[in-house]
Amino acid sequence: MPILTRLNYFALLSFFALSANADSKTLLNFGVFSYLGESQTYAKFSPIIDYLNTQLVNEEIKLHVLPHDVLFEQIKQGHIDIVATNPTHFLMARHYFELSGVIATLVESHQGQPSYLLGGAIIARHDRHDIQQLSDLKHTRIGIPSIFNMGGYRTQAYELHRAGLNLKRDVEFIELGTHEAVINAVVNKQVDAGFVRDGILERLEAQQRLQTGLLKVVQPKIHDGFTNQVSTRLYPEWPVFALKHVDEQSVRRIASALFSLEPDHPAAMAAGIHGFTIPADYFSVEELARHLRLPPFEQAPDFTFADTWQRWSAFYWLFIGGAIATLFLTFWILALLKREKAEHQRFELLLSTVGEGVYGTDRIGNCTFINPAALTMLGLEDDKQVIGYNQHDLFHHHYPNGYPYPQCECPIHKTTQDGQTRRTEEWFIRATGEGFPVNLVVTPLYQEDRLIGSVVVFQDITELKKLQQKLVAQSHVDALTGLANRRYLLQLMHQEFERIKRNQHSAVLIMADLDHFKRVNDTYGHAAGDDVLKAFAQLMRDTLRKTDIIGRLGGEEFVILLPETALDQALEMAERLKHNAQMFSLNIDQQIIQFTVSLGMVEIHPDHKDIETSLAKADNALYQAKSNGRNRIEVYHDPSH
Ligand code: GH3
Ligand code: MG
Ligand code: MG
Repeated sequence: MPILTRLNYFALLSFFALSANADSKTLLNFGVFSYLGESQTYAKFSPIIDYLNTQLVNEEIKLHVLPHDVLFEQIKQGHIDIVATNPTHFLMARHYFELSGVIATLVESHQGQPSYLLGGAIIARHDRHDIQQLSDLKHTRIGIPSIFNMGGYRTQAYELHRAGLNLKRDVEFIELGTHEAVINAVVNKQVDAGFVRDGILERLEAQQRLQTGLLKVVQPKIHDGFTNQVSTRLYPEWPVFALKHVDEQSVRRIASALFSLEPDHPAAMAAGIHGFTIPADYFSVEELARHLRLPPFEQAPDFTFADTWQRWSAFYWLFIGGAIATLFLTFWILALLKREKAEHQRFELLLSTVGEGVYGTDRIGNCTFINPAALTMLGLEDDKQVIGYNQHDLFHHHYPNGYPYPQCECPIHKTTQDGQTRRTEEWFIRATGEGFPVNLVVTPLYQEDRLIGSVVVFQDITELKKLQQKLVAQSHVDALTGLANRRYLLQLMHQEFERIKRNQHSAVLIMADLDHFKRVNDTYGHAAGDDVLKAFAQLMRDTLRKTDIIGRLGGEEFVILLPETALDQALEMAERLKHNAQMFSLNIDQQIIQFTVSLGMVEIHPDHKDIETSLAKADNALYQAKSNGRNRIEVYHDPSH
């Protein structure tokens, strides 16, 4: 009865584990913007939330699908912990609340292909022959979901702006709430055109809720590998982010679960997505908002010539208005002065409260101002230690590898010379001498068309880097055996194959498969089978060299790649492995489990077509080993060698 006892033991153990967890699970509220309307968005996201709940042991996730105003209100009230929404909302949320930063970016699936980007479609009825290109939209009424939509407003508004249309004067926008309301309004001729996110038309047409060909996309843009119709350039897909108050461990576990969602997982298929990837760069979204002066950048601090002219031409007309007007003017000036002062104070306040480090330089790189966050990150106490000194010499003088960093290569220096905006990752050095990675944006600073220096905004990305490294490492490892997983194994093998071709080295590829493994499972149980797999993985590590690549291809099938090894040397190693496996025994619940392994091997030649060809040859040899009685090694001999 040892099996029964063992099963009971496990059942009891997992029962207690579950009931203990049910009490201590942290409830996390996951807010999602209802961009497809409430029921459709709910249908899309609930499989993902269900999936998270099966993956997470310590957290329980609850889904809330909300329109944007409710979503923001709920975030403000502290009722929401994790958010998935469009990049515009992320930008606003980052401005108004404290966030952990983006933890993952959604990857949509377009007809089975992963899509990391989103865009906007400008739609009109097909029979509107007068609307062919963007400039035809002048003096039209355009339906939009809301001005806070990314693919449903901002992306298209930016294209109209770039095409020379004045968004305030030349077009009339009508907010209709949802993408489907926009489509209906265009179909029913209540508006001349509409803005919707990419994929909406395709989705409705596929669901036969919209007659194919009734609507067209105005001035469509072609993007390589992007199948949905769009009229705009493309921007990163939806971010998932956490509010600052959420426990960092939870955020990490959620990120890790999201990254592990494979495209062929039922949850991903039900949601119609490809999965999630490491955070995208949302700079382009931010730049768009700044250009259009949309929230959260509606109060643009730098006035353009047009703004100034508007302001002072009003002044002029008032001046010639006579005595009453002069009086009025005096009040006007006073109000203006007060506003300027308030603006200056607001600027100071903003600088002192933002989490990013901000400093200014003149054209030779000397600091002109620096904010408290920058001082803290650089380990400095007082701006007197910085102002008037060269920023490069102070905290930017070495590369992470310890080599000196010449100022002529410094992006900040370059911007002060050529006036180009730059965004890079750099390495800053604290007053203590310790270095840290930063994400940095350097913008040229102009005064009356004259380049006078730069403004640098940076963030310490140490934690982000660590998390990224950890997630990358996790995504490479097979959880059961700790060996390279299939995906990483294939990647390593491709790299090695390239090296073999370049250097004309020889290498040997071995495929190993445990014999009658099904019997091990059937006789001793699946858990014992797992123990055997782990033991065999360890045996391979002990028998082979550190430089050999070992991975689990799947099930009880393993691949070993022996770089720079001749066939006879490899045969010796394979013999040793086979022997060690045969000699090895596991003691589980007082039962002795033994196993053997069959191996198929092939010498990789630089003239093999690709690594898959070599793998097929090793598999062929393995098949021979199995049919010749198992617990043996066979070598595939290339007819040409
Ligand atoms: P052969 O000697 O021809 O290779 O016979 P076999 O029984 O080893 O081969 P087969 O491919 O028919 O069976 C492989 C078994 O491995 C079936 C499957 O249940 C089991 N298996 C696959 N992955 C795992 C795993 O992660 N853990 C355990 N315990 N068993 C696994
Ligand atoms: Mg087997
Ligand atoms: Mg097998």
